[in-house]
Amino acid sequence: MKPEKIKGLFESERRDVRVSVSGWVRTRRDSKEFSFLEINDGSCQANLQIIADATLPNYVECVQKLYPGASVCVTGMLRQSQGAKQSLELQAETIQMLGASDPLSYPLGKQRIGFERLRELPHLRVRTNSFAAVARLRSALAFAVHQFFQSRGFVYVHTPIITSSDCEGAGEMFQVTTLNLSEPLPRDGKGVDYRQDFFGARASLTVSGQLEGETYACGLGDIYTFGPTFRAENSNTRRHLSEFWMIEPEMAFADLEDDQQLAEDFLHEMFSAALKRCPDELAFFDKRVLPGVLARLEKLAASPFVRMTYTDAVEQLEKSGHDFEFKPFWGMDLQSEHERFLTEQICNGPVIVTNYPESIKAFYMRRNDDGKTVAAMDVLLPEVGEIIGGSQREERLDVLENVLCEKGLDPARYSDYLDLRRYGTVPHAGFGLGFERLVQICSGMHNIRDVIAYPRAPGLIR
Ligand code: ATP
Ligand code: MN
Repeated sequence: MKPEKIKGLFESERRDVRVSVSGWVRTRRDSKEFSFLEINDGSCQANLQIIADATLPNYVECVQKLYPGASVCVTGMLRQSQGAKQSLELQAETIQMLGASDPLSYPLGKQRIGFERLRELPHLRVRTNSFAAVARLRSALAFAVHQFFQSRGFVYVHTPIITSSDCEGAGEMFQVTTLNLSEPLPRDGKGVDYRQDFFGARASLTVSGQLEGETYACGLGDIYTFGPTFRAENSNTRRHLSEFWMIEPEMAFADLEDDQQLAEDFLHEMFSAALKRCPDELAFFDKRVLPGVLARLEKLAASPFVRMTYTDAVEQLEKSGHDFEFKPFWGMDLQSEHERFLTEQICNGPVIVTNYPESIKAFYMRRNDDGKTVAAMDVLLPEVGEIIGGSQREERLDVLENVLCEKGLDPARYSDYLDLRRYGTVPHAGFGLGFERLVQICSGMHNIRDVIAYPRAPGLIR
């Protein structure tokens, strides 16, 4: 029979009843007449305290060999404990060791280990308080993402992971091939002959589901994607992964104003969901990972987002007199230092920056009437910087064709995308949000590599 979850025991009022629990030993303390075991089953932040009397028949050969990391199954009486801190304890009647652990080699003994070292133990680190808390928070947030969109009538669309299109018209994609790389590659006049590759064309892992998402929005109305995304950029930062999860809503009959509202509503709901569903995890982060993260999250959940145009943002940065590494000027792509200064110093909270110069943004963003800017938006948060990038899409066929040519892209390669504009074109808008950056801001974890299982980054895979 499946044992009961420790979380359920803490939440229930049941006392003086017989229950069975299973979990991993965190610590054991022995006294003359009994041992205290702290066990954790991953269901919640708290450990359950087990009292194992020395009179248990297997006390010497089992209980006294339970070291941190060992797995056990315990049956006994659940009791209100006398101690001030612990509210519950289990008076063991039987204890069974499921799997032993070696105190000399088990890396997660009593002493605390840094996150860097734990990154080398991706298979064991989820047994620590921090990583179990992150995993539960991440799961709760993923559920909240679906609830948010589903309750608003958005259709969840699974866009392909292997693709032949390049969303941004830029490189930075991982190639997918079955060509034998240890032999000379088939060639034609222009280079590698991909007609001989698996798909008969060059294929890659997707950098964004947006283009496919747009096609579904132009038929279903409002859609969202939530899936893995890959970027082969060599960014060794605490905010970039090579494999991350992106949430991409796309709305038909919507403009940049609607897009900003959706982004703000969405983030507010995510912050509230974290506070509501993971109070113990957040209390833990606040105490052990980043003091103040709880107050920060409460503030984020309640603050309206400041909105300003790119032009105003650059003006404010110039006016601030701050000594930036890169001096701000109109036409530049905002650097991380500028984004952070805007949200942390100038606005003291989340900011949505809109209407960027067209020269620094992607081809599909709608041209504004001023001839210089596009209807793009970035949502910036304190500490993490950019969390969302979005735009109203160019729905005018002639404008889009011209832009493609201007940017040196071949319109023939985008004919499906152009069909959306040829047949029943509609104004539409959407955005992309990096799910790990959301988990980062909610947990206060410093490095994005610590909010995903088995992080992938340049030089890092295992
Ligand atoms: P950045 O400037 O921070 O590198 P970007 O402008 O390249 O991001 P977009 O192409 O706009 O990113 O992607 C949309 C969102 O996906 C970003 O706002 C961010 O939250 C997230 N994101 C982008 N690249 C990464 C990455 N390498 N790792 C994790 N999240 C990412
Ligand atoms: Mn962006």
